[in-house]
Amino acid sequence: MPIRGMLRFADANASFEDARFVIVGVPFDKTTSFRSGTRFAPTTVREASQTFERENFEHGTTFEDIPVHDAGDLYEEGSVDEMVDAIHEEAKRLVAAGKFPLFIGGEHSITPPVVKAFGDISVITIDAHLDFRQEYQGLKNSHACAHRRILDHIGTGNAFAFGVRSISSDEDVSTALYADSFRIHREGTEKVFDEMLSKLKRTPVYLSLDIDGIDPAYAPGTGTPEPFGITPWDVRYIVGKLGDRLVGFDVVEISPPYDNGNTSVLGARIMREVMAVKWKAMQKR
Ligand code: MN
Ligand code: MN
Repeated sequence: MPIRGMLRFADANASFEDARFVIVGVPFDKTTSFRSGTRFAPTTVREASQTFERENFEHGTTFEDIPVHDAGDLYEEGSVDEMVDAIHEEAKRLVAAGKFPLFIGGEHSITPPVVKAFGDISVITIDAHLDFRQEYQGLKNSHACAHRRILDHIGTGNAFAFGVRSISSDEDVSTALYADSFRIHREGTEKVFDEMLSKLKRTPVYLSLDIDGIDPAYAPGTGTPEPFGITPWDVRYIVGKLGDRLVGFDVVEISPPYDNGNTSVLGARIMREVMAVKWKAMQKR
């Protein structure tokens, strides 16, 4: 059984039963390829979350009203495959209970087992990398294979990556849907994102934010930084555009040992943005 951590995300004061949003940390970075450290992010993101006001005045929402539960951390036990199974079991528990899950990685290999818990959904990843290898260093559950594993669960055509600017010749991109950051810069985030979104056939969308999708100027604390990224404003546009279509969210690949603190703050702020936007949309139903 996983062990639970104690430091709570800011304003996550609801019980599991009463919560609409449930936060889970996964301090897992066993497959990280270049430099590790993402296992520290659940703690630093929770710490960073304490910096914000409870109100999101621009949305007219306050976290005094938004029922959020922090379920603590899922600690690593056993092999990579066993960890992936444990994440899937946790995600299934949240989905079955009708919760909106927010996972804090850890590395990107935590996303496919969460997606698998939902069944027929669409997935959008924000990522500098396509993560489309069949396997990497002998591991199918490597973070370099995240997008590929997501498609194993939801099928080709039901996911796209946004902000990509690193693709290896090891990756067979023939079945991949993605928008690269060079085109996004030329044509504009709104135009390119809306066009990509129109290709998805399923309405419910799970959003996975690999923090390295955002430019390292804004998000330096990550294991594989890649220049020419999108900005926090672009991510904010995407969250707002998805609105009530959102069914779950994760932020992965934040690496505190390489951070000046701002990357954890940004991750925490985007989590709050997702909850505020979704909450507001739920009130209008
Ligand atoms: Mn990734
Ligand atoms: Mn990446």
